[in-house]
Amino acid sequence: MTEIPYKIYLSENDLPRYWYNVRADMKNKPAPLLNPKTHKPCTEDELSEIFCRELAKQELNETDRFIDIPTEVRDFYKMYRPAPLTRAYCLEKKLGTPAHIYYKFEGNNTSGSHKLNSAIAQAYYAKKQGLKGVTTETGAGQWGTAMAMACAYLDLDCIVYQVRCSYEQKPHRREVIRTYGAKAIPSPSMETEIGRKINAEFPGCTGSLGCAISEAVETATRQPGYRYVLGSVLSQVLLHQTIIGLEAKVAMDKYGIKPDIIIGCAGGGSNLGGLISPFMGEKLRGEADYEFIAVEPASCPSLTRGVFAYDYCDTGCVCPLQKMYTLGSSFMPSANHSGGLRYHGMSSILSQLYDDGLMKARSVEQTEVFAAAELFCRTEGTLPAPESSHAIKVAIDEALKCKETGEVKTILFGLTGTGYFDMKAYAAFNDGTMTDYVPTDEEIQKSVAKIPQI
Ligand SMILES: *Cc1c(COP(=O)(O)O)cnc(C)c1O
Repeated sequence: MTEIPYKIYLSENDLPRYWYNVRADMKNKPAPLLNPKTHKPCTEDELSEIFCRELAKQELNETDRFIDIPTEVRDFYKMYRPAPLTRAYCLEKKLGTPAHIYYKFEGNNTSGSHKLNSAIAQAYYAKKQGLKGVTTETGAGQWGTAMAMACAYLDLDCIVYQVRCSYEQKPHRREVIRTYGAKAIPSPSMETEIGRKINAEFPGCTGSLGCAISEAVETATRQPGYRYVLGSVLSQVLLHQTIIGLEAKVAMDKYGIKPDIIIGCAGGGSNLGGLISPFMGEKLRGEADYEFIAVEPASCPSLTRGVFAYDYCDTGCVCPLQKMYTLGSSFMPSANHSGGLRYHGMSSILSQLYDDGLMKARSVEQTEVFAAAELFCRTEGTLPAPESSHAIKVAIDEALKCKETGEVKTILFGLTGTGYFDMKAYAAFNDGTMTDYVPTDEEIQKSVAKIPQI
């Protein structure tokens, strides 16, 4: 048998030339997006008022299996891709497991996460359409950084509504965004109608993703030459992220490796969807079988404790309605939760796959996530993002199960980014002051009750 190297590197020529649209192979397609005013399926023209035309097309495209990656986007990818696939030999050894563990690392760029894969695509289509700029939101800050970076490259204006608590707690993130030339505005701000309304209603409000999205959409639709861009949840974003899974598959095929279990953290679902898409395609077509596991925080458990229903993607209810697993758009994860993945809903593609029993989900608490991050950091060397560490935690759990049963399973997980800007959370873990919070059924019921009846 060929020795598997620690890192499987691909050449520029191996870089995929297309994204893979898993919807083309899904028997049960995700439910259509609905216009929030009429509750009728959104048309391309309606979506094009918010998003770039080409991205609106991609959002609605459920028939083309492959969508070409534009040459300019592929050239940008070459600056930080193909990303290596790493065999976690050192972690395996430490765990004493017979399992083979692989991870696909997406933190190899200054923005520090996979989000750049979609940011550059979205900036490219905006530029191609002749727009002046884009608006967006950022929670933890990775998406804002990625978008600022992509816009700097293409000379586009970029306005980022950064959730206020993140703007204040993560000044370094904010400065990276500004260094790339984007404008960072704490949300809720006084620059939009929805921001002023929320500030009046809840003085001192530290913001939420849903609120920042509403502000960004309002600004995009009010200013000529601007469109709104979103970092996850949407099918177009998941599509761009399939570069992760496609590359992973090329690398594994090169050495004849077939994963048994594929694991990813799930915030809005784009990185996980992108990682599993090519493998899920094989499963949907009956060519191969894999076990897929989505990992979410116990403090924001949309798949494991949410409902499958049409819901708003934002607090201001200006975005299209999406059928998804959701905790309700008014759900606020507890303030002690610093591990990212704080969004109330989930990608409609992943939601449908999960509802059809094609994917599993598990929720984990943040202290156990940081314990997994610490072990990973000390064995594999990379300081993982708290978000990514949710996947690490479950990969370790699965590897330890193999240790008990003696099974030699192959595990693949997505290491979505690095955690250098999350040192406050690491400090809380190191100091032993980090706490877990699991919402009660009553709390979840409260926000679920506000989901529109459609
Ligand atoms: C945004 C982010 C996530 C969440 O990704 P989704 O695609 O929204 O699920 C995970 N890890 C890192 C490092 C991120 O920045």
